[in-house]
Order: sequence, then structure tokens, then C-alpha cells
Amino acid sequence: MKPTYYLRKLKELSKRYARAQQVPLHKARDAVAEVLGFSHWNDVTKAHRAGWTPTKEHVSAVESLLVEALPGDEAGGPRSGSFIGDSVFETDVQHGTIDGHEYSISASMGDVHMHGTGWHLYVPEAPNAEPRLEIAKQIEHEAPVYEAAFQQEALGIAIKRAEQVRAGIASDWPRRSTKPDKDGLVRHPLNGAESDKWFCLHCDTSITGEQIARSLWHCPRCDASPLNIFESPWWLEEHDAQPKPFSDKEKQGRPELVVDVVDTRPKLKLDTEKVTLLIRSALVEDASNVSERLGALFADIFVHDDNDLSITFDEDLWPENKEPISALAVAAHLGINVDQHLCLRDLPFAWPGLGEHTESTVEYTKMMLNAYASQRADKDFE
Ligand SMILES: [Zn+2]
Repeated sequence: MKPTYYLRKLKELSKRYARAQQVPLHKARDAVAEVLGFSHWNDVTKAHRAGWTPTKEHVSAVESLLVEALPGDEAGGPRSGSFIGDSVFETDVQHGTIDGHEYSISASMGDVHMHGTGWHLYVPEAPNAEPRLEIAKQIEHEAPVYEAAFQQEALGIAIKRAEQVRAGIASDWPRRSTKPDKDGLVRHPLNGAESDKWFCLHCDTSITGEQIARSLWHCPRCDASPLNIFESPWWLEEHDAQPKPFSDKEKQGRPELVVDVVDTRPKLKLDTEKVTLLIRSALVEDASNVSERLGALFADIFVHDDNDLSITFDEDLWPENKEPISALAVAAHLGINVDQHLCLRDLPFAWPGLGEHTESTVEYTKMMLNAYASQRADKDFE
């Protein structure tokens, strides 16, 4: 094992300890340092730079610290250091390097995802489905991920993880689901039906018990999930074409890696909705009291086909000669001309002038409620 492996492990353990104890990471690292005979974590890294490396015993000692910290059910099996080291981290995101390039790998819903700088390798749960590598176009010249050797090494790591995931899934299933009996009969892992012949609802393929067990209950032809596999093609009518048997020659095991190079940089698409959002945000900024703020939110903003823009303010909520300075500046950045109009509309609240006396919406709400209440108080006629 490389010396850096143990240092990395210590860092992982510190993180886990920090989470378990709900203490800041630096405190957890200091606690770990103490177990190793140092007074601070800084001293550990200094020593490491000078050539000191933790031993397996050191790691075990820190693992024991963690076992003490974790609740029993989280630690899982036996309360011994090595168990934690072997199992706890396997369920989480794992990190590693290929030729000095860092990657992380994790499993989600049976699929394996591996990420590095500017690339993402994806191995689907279905054992016959193709693995895909997405490379960000913009890293073209910096990344070794274009090299076949690098790709194959990454693929090897991801496939290995996929096999572990697969083994985990299979271990939860009845034995008869993964191992046909002497007549080729297998049991569906989800609904318990038994048969030596199966059918895919998606592509009408007929599949032998051995084939479906081998492909982990995904359709070997179209990769449909186990939910689409049935012991009879009940959806077919008499005059429909008969299901086509799957031949092992068609496809067996993982197809070749498919590489997609795509520009993953976020692209700006300024549609009318986004322009309106920016302009309205600026209008709110231009408002100097609650009345004007309501006016900014209530204003009608219309983006024309030629990209010019009309803002229609309500006369009672926006002073006639007030220039919406920020909104005009935003429009200028976007290269948009602005027309301003005034109109009179039904307002959401009576007495719009009330909002001119305060910047606080809370204050305004109180005033507005009082105004409505007081007119009820001195009612002389219904
Ligand atoms: Zn299918």
C-alpha cells in the first residue's frame, strides 16, 4: 500500500469522526493527531512532508477512536477497527487517482458514476448496457482522458465497482433468481414468478431463464429493467407478431465504451422571461418606498419581437417623472431600448399613497389594515 494511502485514510477518518461527534474538522483532526502521538494535525502533515508515514497500526488506532464515536448500528458488524475500515467507506463516494489525476466514484440506484476534472464515466446497472464517457469539450488540451490507456483504466475501475454493486443486488435476491435449476427455471426477483422462459414488455423479446439470470433481470436486447420482464407476453394479441427469441450471439456482456465530447459550459439564452426578470429586479432597486416597490412589482414589462422593451407603470404607484435608473442601465447592458408608459389600473390595495410614507412593508401593511378597519368603524349607512 502506498504511504499516501494511509494519510488519506486518516483524513477520511477525521472527517467521519467530525461528523459523528459534530465537531469542526480541525478539532477532529487534532483528536486524530493526538492518537498518533502529535499535539496538532499540523504537526502530522509537517512530519509527513519530512518523510514520516502512518502505519497500518496507526490507522487501526484511529479507527478504534471512530468505533467509539459511532452509534452501534452505524458501525454495523463487529466492534473492531478493521471492519470499519473495510466497509464504512465502501458505501460512500470513493476517491482515487489515475496517473496522478484525481477522480471520485459512487453508485446511485445501481448505476456507477465516476467523475474527474472535465469528464464523467457512467456504467449503467444493466449488465449489457453500454458504458458512456462524457468529456467536456472545453478541456480538450489539458486532459489525459482523451488517451485510450487512461480511458481503459478508468473503465476498468468503474466496471469493477459495477460488479460489486451487481453482487450486492444479487445477494439480496433469492438464489433461484441468479442460478437456474437443471431445467433452466428461474424465479423473478421482484414478483416471485417462476419460469424457464421470459418476455420483455418493451421490445417483445423472448428470453431463456439462463439469459435473464445472467443479465441480472434486465432485458438483454433493450436493457429494460426487471419491472418489464414477465413470464408470459400477456400484452400481445393473437394477430401480433410472436416474440423474437434473444440469441447469445447478438450481445453478451458490456459493449464497448461510447465516448461523447460535449461543450458543458453553461450557455446564456436571454429569452423574454429572463430579460423581464432582470429589468424587474432593477426596478425594485430603483423604488425608494413601499408604494414604488409595489409599482415595480406591478409594472407591466413587455419585450417586443425586435428586442425593444416597454415598461408600463401605474400612475398611482410610480411618480410620473421618476427615471428607473437601474432598469435603464440594465437595458443598456443588454442592448435594449426602453419605452416608458403610464396607465391607470385597478390597484391591489386602496389608498396607494400610504406606501409613500414608509420603506417597510410591515409598516405599510399595518397602515393599510388600519385604513380599511377605520372606514368600517364610522359607517353610517350600509
Ligand atoms: Zn427488451
